[in-house]
Amino acid sequence: MSEIILPGFVDIHDHFREPSSKNLSETYANATRMMLASGYAVATDMPNTPGRETWYPERLEEKHSISQRKAWIAVGQHVGSQPESNNISYLAKLSRTALGLKFYFGHTTGVDHDYSVDEFRDAAQEWHRVAPNKPILAHAVGGELVKEVIGLVAQDLKHPLHICHTHHPDEVRAVDEAKQRGLETTIGVTFHHLFMTSYETKTKGWFAEMMPALSAQQHAEELSRMLVDGAIDMIETDYAPHAKEAKWKAESENPQRIDDPKAHTTCFGVGGIEHAVPMMLRQAKLGNISYERLTDVMSTAPAKLLGIEIGESTRFRWNTKDYRIETEDDMISGAKWSPYLGSLASGRIIDATIGGRTVIADGKPIKQHHEPLTQRGVTI
Ligand SMILES: [Zn+2]
Repeated sequence: MSEIILPGFVDIHDHFREPSSKNLSETYANATRMMLASGYAVATDMPNTPGRETWYPERLEEKHSISQRKAWIAVGQHVGSQPESNNISYLAKLSRTALGLKFYFGHTTGVDHDYSVDEFRDAAQEWHRVAPNKPILAHAVGGELVKEVIGLVAQDLKHPLHICHTHHPDEVRAVDEAKQRGLETTIGVTFHHLFMTSYETKTKGWFAEMMPALSAQQHAEELSRMLVDGAIDMIETDYAPHAKEAKWKAESENPQRIDDPKAHTTCFGVGGIEHAVPMMLRQAKLGNISYERLTDVMSTAPAKLLGIEIGESTRFRWNTKDYRIETEDDMISGAKWSPYLGSLASGRIIDATIGGRTVIADGKPIKQHHEPLTQRGVTI
């Protein structure tokens, strides 16, 4: 049987849904077990947990504590600051154990309007003062908005900036232009923006509604090329599970998929990571992306953004056997559904170690204790 050994993957973008009283589709224990079983050694939780946003030190401590007790891999935290969060005076304290600061320019935190970039200037300046090495991550959709964010963060403040989950080549070009000017800016793409297209909303309805929206086929193909060529720096999962019931609720109450959370039921986001990773490994097996480039975009580059290293003793041994994704029944993800049924994949994990300790044996994840990731400079 053919095998390949890969370093543990690093994800800079997860929504683990805990603590929450609103979205109960996932838990830390389950989500991190799923990530481990998908080849990840490190994950990073985003701050917009519904109703319990990571805007204040108590919330950050609460998440570190949950991760300390329950996580199956090392988990870091990004904190957030929004015009409505009123937390600039807390950023110094938050920056001690957070890995990055996230800005949402669109209405993803329950606010019903988009913000202007300038409304984030004070928060960006304060973060730069207290955490000059820790990146600002931006949920910025559209080439023009990306340029504005680059202007504020990477150009004016000379602060490291990451543009999350690109869905359009214009956003990548804006980042590329900033890189040419010597500005410290990176950009990531999700599996679903590589493997799915906007036409799927026709047949899958809310089950294909993501934030940002899926791309037209020509753009999805271009994003794939940009990932291979190096213009896109990394893959981030944006793991955002919703129960089937929540997707169905949006589908039955808002079949026209009107994006207006105040007046219409909406439900954005997707899981399926445990299928997407072996689908990407199939792309490598087919030669559409080299294993070296795959290691860059799934391990080296995201680790560099977080300021950590994946050591020699964090290795996953995969077989490279082909198969068709036939069922959702064996999924670990709390959402228990996948947009990738019927797709071809190559590879399952045989065994794995993180920091020399066995974390997967005979294909089965093993619970080990993992300290929360609270600092740069750490080797996992
Ligand atoms: Zn996200």
